[in-house]
Amino acid sequence: MIYVGSGGVPTSSKERSTIGGIKEIAKLKLDAMEVEFVRGVKMSESMAKEVGQTAEEYKIRLSVHAPYYINLLSPDKELVKKSNERVIDSLDRAEIMKADAVAVHMGFLGKLSAKEANEIMKERVADLIELMKKQGITKVKLGPETMVKKGQWGSFEEVVEMYKHYKKYLTPYLDWGHMFAYFGGTIDYKKILDEIEKLNLSHINSHFNCVKYSAASKSYVDVHQPIAAKTPDFKPLAEELKKRKLNITLICETPELERDALEMKRILGF
Ligand SMILES: [Zn+2]
Repeated sequence: MIYVGSGGVPTSSKERSTIGGIKEIAKLKLDAMEVEFVRGVKMSESMAKEVGQTAEEYKIRLSVHAPYYINLLSPDKELVKKSNERVIDSLDRAEIMKADAVAVHMGFLGKLSAKEANEIMKERVADLIELMKKQGITKVKLGPETMVKKGQWGSFEEVVEMYKHYKKYLTPYLDWGHMFAYFGGTIDYKKILDEIEKLNLSHINSHFNCVKYSAASKSYVDVHQPIAAKTPDFKPLAEELKKRKLNITLICETPELERDALEMKRILGF
């Protein structure tokens, strides 16, 4: 089953709340929505419960995006503590609304080498898992997201390796546009899906958006572009997915949001 949805409330939704967004997703005949906590977790627990009930009623699959302002690798202990709180708050609301995963931008290397960063990140994730257990978070998965820059923690390989360490609590959160940028403007969908298939995930969470080429930095940067930009091209991903029997969610994060989500469904052929 392939679920397609939007990152946040669809643009066409007159009611700008999360609940309004879910109803609009259903009206548009999309299948999923990501609840965006990117600027902070402001939703109460009772509201999260209501959101969950609405999603259940309308049969919409939910996921959550944690705040951007997170750096689990910071040398500043206070910032790590705040980051933990933001991740746990996101996971808590996600658990209540029965979302399947929380996408997290895990952190920046700063002066750390990739090896050092991986070691520290392993400890930080272990700390987060302890906090999850304390809070009684058992169903929703912590989803370290694949990132764009070498200075960010979260290459495809790192994310998969981290998942293998903590399978019960994690899921690799794929961002196709980020990976395309990370690999320098190219992506081998087949190779990535082959790797992912080996993990036997019950569900795969992912974002799809196109990224922008920056002449100044001679690289692709994380400025979201419509699907028509074809950076990366969605069609070969759709073809690769149709060959396989995978359970996957594709959350559209382009500026065209639901219009591109519907375009993705059209390309997928349903
Ligand atoms: Zn993200």
